[in-house]
Parts: sequence; C-alpha cells; structure tokens
Amino acid sequence: MSVITRFAPSPTGSLHIGGARTALFNMLFARHFNGKFLLRIEDTDKKRSTDKAIEIILNDLNWLGLHWDDKPIYQSDNFARHIEIVNLLLSKGNAYKCYSTPKDLELLRENQIKEGKPYRYDGKWRNKSSSEAPDNIKPVVRLKAPLDGETIINDLVQGTVKTLNKELDDMVLLRSDGTPTFMLAVVVDDYDMGITHVIRGDDHLTNAFRQRLIYDSLGWVPPKYFHIPLIHGSDGKKLSKRNEAIGANSYRKTGYLPEALRNYLLKLGWGHGDDEIISDTQAIEWFDGSGIGKSSAKFDRIKLTSINANYLKLKNNTELLILITPLIEEKLGYKLDNVSKDRVIKGMNGIKERSKTLLDLMEQSLVYIKKTPILYEEKAKKILDNDTQLQLNIIIDSLGHITEWDATNLEVWARSFSEENNIKLGKIAQPIRAAITGSTQSPPIFEVMAIFGKEEVIYRLKQAIKMV
Ligand code: GLU
Repeated sequence: MSVITRFAPSPTGSLHIGGARTALFNMLFARHFNGKFLLRIEDTDKKRSTDKAIEIILNDLNWLGLHWDDKPIYQSDNFARHIEIVNLLLSKGNAYKCYSTPKDLELLRENQIKEGKPYRYDGKWRNKSSSEAPDNIKPVVRLKAPLDGETIINDLVQGTVKTLNKELDDMVLLRSDGTPTFMLAVVVDDYDMGITHVIRGDDHLTNAFRQRLIYDSLGWVPPKYFHIPLIHGSDGKKLSKRNEAIGANSYRKTGYLPEALRNYLLKLGWGHGDDEIISDTQAIEWFDGSGIGKSSAKFDRIKLTSINANYLKLKNNTELLILITPLIEEKLGYKLDNVSKDRVIKGMNGIKERSKTLLDLMEQSLVYIKKTPILYEEKAKKILDNDTQLQLNIIIDSLGHITEWDATNLEVWARSFSEENNIKLGKIAQPIRAAITGSTQSPPIFEVMAIFGKEEVIYRLKQAIKMV
C-alpha cells in the first residue's frame, strides 16, 4: 500500500505557521515513501471560508514550496457523498435521528452543570421509534456510539492513548439543516482519498477518538495518526498573534526565504542529530516519521533568522538581485536600471556578509541604487562640514593620481594618504562615505568606491563640496 498523506486546512485566514509545519511534515513523509501528498480544503463552513482565504492559502503553500499532488480537493464538493454515508449508517442502525431541540439540549446542559457533570447528550432518541418523531422538528442525525468499553488510538507520536466510551456521547453527523458535520466529513474524505497517514496538530487528538468510532461503525480501517505537539511562542505560551508573527506570509514580507523557513519548521519539533542546515533532499531522505518530539517546541525567531542568513549566503548574486528587485521597487520605490543592477551585483558579496534577510539586503544595496544628486542624511551633512570640504579637495586631487582603481589599491592609497597628512584613517573614510553615499553607514567604503569607478567618485565628491 503506498503512502498517501494530506494537508486539510480550513480556509478561514492565511496559512498559519503551525499549519505550514503540518503541511511540510505531510509532504516530506509522502515524498520519503514515494507516495502522494494531497491537499483538501475544508470549506464546509461557508460563512467563514472565503474564496480570498483559499487563494491566500494556496499562494502561501506555493511560496513555501509545499507542493501537493493532483488537484486540490474541496470538501464542500463531497456534500452528497457525506449524506450518502449518513444514510448508510442510518440504514445499518448505526445512526439515528434525534429530535431534541436546542432548547432541550440547553436545559440538559444546565442540569448537568448543576450536578457538576460535563455536558453529554443523554441519548434520549437513541432507541425511540420513528413513530414517536414530532413532525414540526427537523432532526439531526447522531452516531449510535458504544456505551461502554474504551477507544484506543495507537498514535505514532503520542503512543497509546485511550478514552472510555462513556465519555464520548452520540455525536452529531448531520445537522438539522441537512449539512454534514466536520467530524463526519473528515472521516469520509480521508477514507475516499485513501489517506494512509494523518499528521496533524495534537489539538485534533480528541477528535481522533470520535473519528475512530465513525470508522468502526462503517467497518473502515482508520489511517495511522501522528498528532504533533503545537508550536509555542518564545514565551512558552501557545503561539498566537500576541507573542509571534503567526502567518507564513509575514515571513515572506519580512524577507525570509522559503527554503530557510522550511528548514526551520522542519527542525521545530523534529530532530535529526545536531544537523541544523538540512537540504530538501536530505529532509526527504531522513523524514520517515520517527524523531518527532512529544513536547511542544518553542518558536525562536533568532534561530530562524540565522538559518535564513545561511541560505542567503548560498545563493549567487544574480539570484539575490532577482529576489530583492521587487522589494526595492515596492518598498523603496526605485526602478532599477542596468547601471544600478550592475553595481548591486558587484557589491553583493559585501552586502551579503552584513545581511540576514532580504530586507537587510535591500537596505544595504540602496547605496548602489541612489542616483545623483543624492540626498544627504543629517548625520552625513554634519560630517561634511567646512574643514572636511577643504580635505575633500585634497582627496580629490590625490585620488586623481590613482591608476589601478580597485578596492585594495584604494585602501593602500587611503593608508598612505592618512600617514602623509597625519590624519586618522577614519577621518578620511567617513567624509568620503558621507559624500558619495549621503549616509554614515555603507558596505566597506573602498569596495563602494571601486564599484562606482573613479569618475563617479570624483564627481560625487565635487557635488558634495558644492552642496554643503
Ligand atoms: N481542517 C482542520 C484544521 O484546519 C484539520 C482537520 C484534520 O487535519 O483532520 O485544523
């Protein structure tokens, strides 16, 4: 039997970081066994699942490189099939119509609370005949669940977990408006899709018991389960908007690479020795379902950022330029011409060293993109005071004699210039930086000068003298 896994998001918002990890684990597990990884959109709650949310989730999954096989399956398309199964259960006597009204149930709940008991449906309609049915009430359909014994799940992460059947009441399979419940739909769809392994958050563990009862009453074999502990924030509390950015999309916007986020999410709750940087090929080779931790993992943005920096350094300069171009255009409003592109590529090694995210790269590359006349930051203006102007004139003169214009020679020049004129190296480098970049911070200044070329550097120095 070949492995078939699925990711089954409810499209009520963008892809959550926990959902992204679930999808990743399912994908890797399927790929490891040469099986299939399917996507099922659980869109039965029509009020909450919007087309927009579906589109966002598909985009987020694609961006993250979590590619599913075949076409996505929409749970709402299987409506008729869900009802067919409810009817089958009714005909087998494994389900029954319940005419208790919401008011009856409210009363039941109140009484149970008074008695200090947890709320459970009392099975009132379990054994009544249809002749007793009131004709002004639309019934729900409930599963006739076993009253005693226990239900056992041999979970591949949590181990053997049990619950007494008397704790599980007769769950609703079909609502009074004729719509199937989530519990039923998940079972029917997983069965029809041939799902062999379900990897999902352990918030679904209690559902697994109820789902197990539905499988049993249909005589179907349930899939194997891995209920993985939820991700917690760095404060140890459940991951939420309050303690961390939880949308996968926000990492895209703040300059993280999908491969870095994948690598980080893989490591979050799954271990393979001390390996930190794991390629996709290795991940597929190693991810066989073992090694998933039983306790919840803490989201650690510093670690994610350091993994991201690692992946940035692995990319070649042209790839990086392609990645930052849309950011430069959207966030900074600059259109890159060929001169700027060429400069950014040439300066990329220096920029890369100082960057952990694409946003860092974007900011660092600005120096190569700004055109003359450049705007001087206040701090830069301060450096370019009158004394410095005098100095800049001498610098221009001296630079004019350099024949081999490259970063090494420029540094050699600066050192001897500082000795000859008895000025500290920084007192030369800083005014040059301020004059040619308009800023007090930049990639190594001799590298910047080398990339701009002699003519441009001298032009900018002269402009600076005029401007201030
Ligand atoms: N749709 C459910 C969710 O988004 C997942 C159901 C499942 O994996 O069984 O939490």
